[in-house]
Amino acid sequence: MSHDVDWSFNGPGRNHILARKDRCEEDTLRKLERENPYNNIHDYIAIEEDLGLRSTFFFRTNYENGRLIEHEDDIQALLNGGREVGLHCNPFSVDNFDSMRQEKKGLESITKKTVKANRSHHLAFSERLPSISELSHLCEY
Ligand SMILES: [Zn+2]
Repeated sequence: MSHDVDWSFNGPGRNHILARKDRCEEDTLRKLERENPYNNIHDYIAIEEDLGLRSTFFFRTNYENGRLIEHEDDIQALLNGGREVGLHCNPFSVDNFDSMRQEKKGLESITKKTVKANRSHHLAFSERLPSISELSHLCEY
C-alpha cells in the first residue's frame, strides 16, 4: 500500500474541505473545528500496526501552503516504524534531472537516509523519466 502526502502539515484548509464535504463522513465535518482530517499520518500508522502492514509514504518537497520540514516528525515516525519514505516529485521534475536531484536531496535532508522511491504528483510522466530516475538513483533494476 502507498500514500501520496499531497498537503503540507496544515492540510488544504477548512474551505477546501467544506467544498468537498460530500466526500466526508458527518463525524469528520462535526470535528472540523478542532481536528484537521488531513493531519492523519499517525492514524495510518496505528491502523497499519493493528494489521501488521508497512506501507510507503511519498512526500512532496514543495507545498503550496507550507514546507516539507513541517512533516519532519511524521517522516521520522514512519521511518522508525520501518516504513518507506519516497519522493512525490513535482510534475516539472519528470523532465528535469537537476530539479529531480534537488528534490531528492531536499527530502533526504530530512530522512537522513537515501530515498529510493518516487511517484510523481498527478502521476506526471515524460519519456525522460526512466533515465532521470535511474540517474537520480530513484529506482533499482
Ligand atoms: Zn499528488
